[in-house]
Amino acid sequence: MSEGPCLDQRVEELVAVQSFEPPAAFREKARVADASLYEKADQDRLAFWAEQARELDWDTPFSTVLDDSRAPFYRWFEDGRLNASYNCLDRHVAAGLGDRVAYHWRGEEGEERAITYSGLLHEVQKFANALKDLGVRKGDVVGIYLPMVPEAAVAMLACARIGAVHNVVFGGFSAEAVRERMAVSRAKVLVTADRARRKGRAAEVKGALDAALDELADLRHVVVVRVGGGGAGAGRGEPCPMRTRRDVYYDDVLASAADTCPAEPMEAEHPLFILYSSGSTGKPKGIVHSTGGYLTGVSYTHRVVFDLDAERDVFWCTADVGWITGHSYAVYGPLANGTTSVMFEGAPDYPDPGIWWEIVERYGVSIFYTAPTAIRACMRWGSEYPAGHDLSSLRLLGSVGEPINPKAWVWYHTVIGRERCPIVDTWWQTETGSIMIAPLPGATATRPGSATHPLPGVCANLVDGSGRTVPEGTGLLVLTEPWPSMLRTLYGEEERYVEAYFSEFGPGTYAVGDSARRDTDGYYWVLGRVDDVLNVSGHRLSSGEVESAIVAHEKVAEAAVVSEPDELTGEAIVAFVTLRGGAEGGPETEADIREHVSARIGKLARPSRIIWPTNCRRPGAARSCAGCSGTPCRIANWATSRH
Ligand code: AMP
Repeated sequence: MSEGPCLDQRVEELVAVQSFEPPAAFREKARVADASLYEKADQDRLAFWAEQARELDWDTPFSTVLDDSRAPFYRWFEDGRLNASYNCLDRHVAAGLGDRVAYHWRGEEGEERAITYSGLLHEVQKFANALKDLGVRKGDVVGIYLPMVPEAAVAMLACARIGAVHNVVFGGFSAEAVRERMAVSRAKVLVTADRARRKGRAAEVKGALDAALDELADLRHVVVVRVGGGGAGAGRGEPCPMRTRRDVYYDDVLASAADTCPAEPMEAEHPLFILYSSGSTGKPKGIVHSTGGYLTGVSYTHRVVFDLDAERDVFWCTADVGWITGHSYAVYGPLANGTTSVMFEGAPDYPDPGIWWEIVERYGVSIFYTAPTAIRACMRWGSEYPAGHDLSSLRLLGSVGEPINPKAWVWYHTVIGRERCPIVDTWWQTETGSIMIAPLPGATATRPGSATHPLPGVCANLVDGSGRTVPEGTGLLVLTEPWPSMLRTLYGEEERYVEAYFSEFGPGTYAVGDSARRDTDGYYWVLGRVDDVLNVSGHRLSSGEVESAIVAHEKVAEAAVVSEPDELTGEAIVAFVTLRGGAEGGPETEADIREHVSARIGKLARPSRIIWPTNCRRPGAARSCAGCSGTPCRIANWATSRH
């Protein structure tokens, strides 16, 4: 008989447990099993960060740690020089680890590729030369819009090798979103794919992009990775449309590129990448990360939060490279630490909901890092899927992206971790670059739903609206000291950077945009956003951006979106829409608007439902209306009062 029902029963027993000590067997072997790291960081924070930075290889050692003379434009390790690609590849190969697997890549139809550190270095050097052959120079922006294929990591590292600044766009975003992000960052080259495979189908990528790309004056070349893919939707190996002179195939440029491309030492503050993220207004923010500080932050946190043993561990972060979690913990953190990772192209329920656990068993994954939405989906599919696989290689589990509800935490702990694996609930953001609040798994007692405490070296606080500390209870989360992996600015928008993060509580205090609760023991419980940012399945979206997309539909007069709690996705988008000329909405228009939002932003931004306040006496008023009673009412009431 399957173990599934027994595990489910155990989940019911454990939901009442408030606190979980690190399992003794884990603690015994843990990198950090006491408070010593916190004490060290508290004694001399800058010396602590300098020590973390010195774990990297520097071409020119730094002599200054932090320059805060132009706060909030902080500069870390400023006179040092290093190369991120060198730190992720060459130094491991030079240390004799060339045969270590960097990625076990698994395609969605079960294809496998084991890519060693020396194999990855070879391909990165070739692609770096190919980019140079296409005219890319230090400081140029290169867009990357790819599914979860190894070429995504290759392209990122090739950019880093020559000082080009990558700008990755999540593969689930639309052609219009790619166009916008390439236009504002003035990208010179875009690396994309012919097709993307998803659940047995192959969708055109390059063909669907062309019209949007034709509008980009700065874009000189498009490099196309042949992902191919069978299944319905697009034929295997069929060529995709190519614009003469502009478009080239990845394998062709790789074949003609020279083999050796020395890593160029970069100033520590040289931008490594831009990643666009949703802000509270409609326009995405181009978050800029540095080379030295970012790499210091991601390698340090990857080591201590995941208790890394690079010789033995197999690490799997399920995030797509299009999000910051994919940048920091599927690419830069693990590679900087010489880790073996898993990269999976497919969906968690294709060909069936056991696929993740089959992969854990197959590659002996020991550290597994995913999002609460995925955990809730796995719960819904049933414990029998994980119960059908040998998960004994797992020793540590992680969660990121949104608050995790205690039931999902306990299910993860019991059914996946078999009560043996600590869970690290990690709070951080695109802007912070690396994990900020999380347990040290060998030292911290965990509480389901709490990310526990700021990491050693990180200074956080809870304040009220006027900046006064809230010692206990609910307040606004702030970071009170700069940290190496913090964003440096918003691309091309310095004023917006200051305004968005440092205007609320003054130049030294970073306003996170989340509310949190601090309990009597000082544990942080992050509750969610306090601005107009929505969090759907751990993906960040701006309500303003979704509203603009809806309003751009020809039939729509006005729109406002709010979120409502959803058991699976955490938050779901609800749109209040008034149509032009007072027309009445119906299922057809609803489907049409959802499709329209999908085309403008991506499927993840589609409202889960649309409410038509057609009988409102002021149909033109989207956010508030005179209401039937004659007094102004908030839009949130429309859902229930059904004007
Ligand atoms: P992003 O910049 O897309 O990574 O989104 C960051 C936002 O996700 C944060 O500001 C939080 O609102 C939310 N978030 C991320 N991790 C957690 C977590 N462990 N617990 C609660 N909320 C989280």
